[in-house]
Amino acid sequence: MLGQMMTAPLLISSLIDHAARYHGGTSIVSVNTTGGIEHTTWAEVARNARRLGSALTKLGLEPQARCATIAWNNRRHLEIYFGTSGAGFVCHTINPRLFPEQLVYIINHAEDRVLFIDETFVPLVAAIRDQLPALDHIVIMGPRSEAAVEKLPGITFYDELIAGGDPDFDWPSFDENTASSLCYTSGTTGNPKGVLYSHRSTLLHSFAGNTADALAITARDVVLPVVPMFHVNAWGVPYCAAMVGAQMVMPGPGLDGESLVGLIDTYGVTLALGVPTIWLGLLGHAKAVGSSLTSLERTVVGGSACPPSMITQFREEYGVDTIHAWGMSEMSPLGSVNMPLAKHRDLPIDQQHRLRENQGRPPFGVELKIIDEDGADLPWDGEAQGDLLVRGHWVLDSYFHISDEGLLQDGWFATGDVATIDPDGYMTIKDRSKDIIKSGGEWISSVELENIAIAHPALQDAAVVGVAHAKWDERPILIAVPVEGQTPSEDELLAFFEGKIATWQVPDKVVFKDVLPRNATGKVLKRTLREEFGQVLTG
Ligand code: AMP
Repeated sequence: MLGQMMTAPLLISSLIDHAARYHGGTSIVSVNTTGGIEHTTWAEVARNARRLGSALTKLGLEPQARCATIAWNNRRHLEIYFGTSGAGFVCHTINPRLFPEQLVYIINHAEDRVLFIDETFVPLVAAIRDQLPALDHIVIMGPRSEAAVEKLPGITFYDELIAGGDPDFDWPSFDENTASSLCYTSGTTGNPKGVLYSHRSTLLHSFAGNTADALAITARDVVLPVVPMFHVNAWGVPYCAAMVGAQMVMPGPGLDGESLVGLIDTYGVTLALGVPTIWLGLLGHAKAVGSSLTSLERTVVGGSACPPSMITQFREEYGVDTIHAWGMSEMSPLGSVNMPLAKHRDLPIDQQHRLRENQGRPPFGVELKIIDEDGADLPWDGEAQGDLLVRGHWVLDSYFHISDEGLLQDGWFATGDVATIDPDGYMTIKDRSKDIIKSGGEWISSVELENIAIAHPALQDAAVVGVAHAKWDERPILIAVPVEGQTPSEDELLAFFEGKIATWQVPDKVVFKDVLPRNATGKVLKRTLREEFGQVLTG
């Protein structure tokens, strides 16, 4: 070997060490689950993470033992991210909105040894405790609470646990390919599947995340991760923020418009990240109270397609740049980010805006391609649409404890999304492959129709699904959720599509609902909608 440069394993502990050393005084604001706001710093988070790592090691856990969390975004959760992984254990974040039977499945499948929970989740865990044989320790994320002990005998308390830990604990060194964290996909069919990230993949993902054409978090940012820490490691934001020593505002359980506008205005948030539904609530409240979200410079929106009307509203009414990103649990999650190219600068402004609407292009480190039904590569002409495949340094190789046979196709992972790619590499998600509407042999993108519908001022939410049709096999219908107090007619809503898409793509019917069914990560449950409305066109 001729290379003569130093090598050191890429470990998560080095991120928190860096944040503590160079940005120790930088503040972390944390909304507690039981109310109240705490102010801490990267130095304090690092000290507590070491205490925790030391305390868990003293418990005698084996290397890579899974330590689970059921918690909102708060500073103890941040300490657990670094304390568990830093000490060589696996931080397994769990979505509290899952059904109890899914929680039981996931905790047992992961063989979690420790479970950290916010105190509000004591009843949830008490109800399933006797079905979790491998779990040795339940730790309430807070000080001692006798009320909690009564409901869950044998529990311990985070503040007491770390009080017995060493703040000068030496992080262990190990292979960078060691597992660091675990997330289960919230599949709409079948059992959830675990994605096991490594220290190496997490560090490389953080480097890429912080490039200027991606999230570009800097030491001057005040970052509000609205995306939950149980949803693909909050899109990697805690690691990216530690890498550059950004200020953080951890929003706790209140993700409503009022709470978020309050946090943005009080703490001068410059960058907020989350799914589109969250921003609908935020924009509604900001308008109602007359906030101009002065400090906010940019939002990163992903998890579902960001409606173009939302990008426009952020830009025109608040001067906020919306960065549309795409990814998935299996990709840590960053797959693509929409930022312009130099050649776009001279385009008419309308055209520049249009170009910001799609899901963008990948940062270095991941590659995308589209293929047809026979597995042949499709051209990057912005027209041909096919199955989207990915590969890269932070893409999964196999699911946790599931046979990987047939998962990858020639080293590529099939995302389950259908997309187009244009000559510059910009990708547009057309649909999940199971949601695309096949009408008389032609494909209709439900996402495209939803993006149009949601821009109607009388609608607060909208979904489009394909339902059975005698002649065309499948036709689109619009499920519309009106703004409170408004009663738009079916004709009016259908007329809204005219001139925006081909006539044959306009939905055949509109049905109204008060709220759309969503899964635990906020994605619309189209299967449920198809079950409910599948026969509306066939009678
Ligand atoms: P999850 O693993 O729960 O994060 O879900 C990943 C899936 O969410 C992707 O495969 C896409 O179908 C969808 N998704 C994520 N981001 C976007 C986006 N910006 N536009 C459209 N769909 C998205």
